[in-house]
Amino acid sequence: MFHNFNATVWRDSYEFELLTDFVKEHEHSITYRFREERVYTPGELAGFEFLRVTVTAYAGFGAENFGPVYDKSSACPACGLSGWRQTSPLIINKREMGKKDLAITYSFEYLSSDRLKLALEANGIGGYCLMPVRHKTDTLGTNEPRIWQITSAHILPPMVPPTVLERSAAYCETCDRTGVYLKSEPYYSPKGFIAEDINFTAECFGERPFATHDVVISQRTYRLLRELKVRNFRVEPVHLI
Ligand SMILES: [Zn+2]
Repeated sequence: MFHNFNATVWRDSYEFELLTDFVKEHEHSITYRFREERVYTPGELAGFEFLRVTVTAYAGFGAENFGPVYDKSSACPACGLSGWRQTSPLIINKREMGKKDLAITYSFEYLSSDRLKLALEANGIGGYCLMPVRHKTDTLGTNEPRIWQITSAHILPPMVPPTVLERSAAYCETCDRTGVYLKSEPYYSPKGFIAEDINFTAECFGERPFATHDVVISQRTYRLLRELKVRNFRVEPVHLI
């Protein structure tokens, strides 16, 4: 007989202590996972000029299953998994995007609805690039219904301490682009920090060929996403220290 339980508790609560003790005591008879999340009030988030975005909805397979084609001439000589350049449109099953304004594929390509794309344009948001996305059975190569792969042409400088970066067994020392995980809020030095409304981090997070840049947006982009009632994303503060 199996039982599944989910518990959400505050890190500094008595309940957290109880739960940790329980897990320790039963370590050999249970399987468990911890996921740490930071929670902010709207007031706290309004006080930061830049915010890091996590997209929380998936729209099925992307490059992992359907292409696109990559130019691998600049691939990392050690792991071969980073430095690929996408040279043809992303192909997805568009039904998996549904009515979502924002989503990511299982291979971590960022997707935007046509509604969101038009709103970004109308509000003069800067820094992003859009590429048309093809439906998996569309042999004509159109972008119907319209969905866009969204990337940024603006790469931020590297994060600085006290940012906590963790490296997994898959970490590649040569390119520093696979096997890296962000375990804290991001910190940047204000010196030389130049940012657009939509930016990519210099760092790539995750593993395999699809380790992906995180997205950092301006406060005004965040306000626009909220006005548009875009769902499926979370933000956390970016610190300039
Ligand atoms: Zn490498």
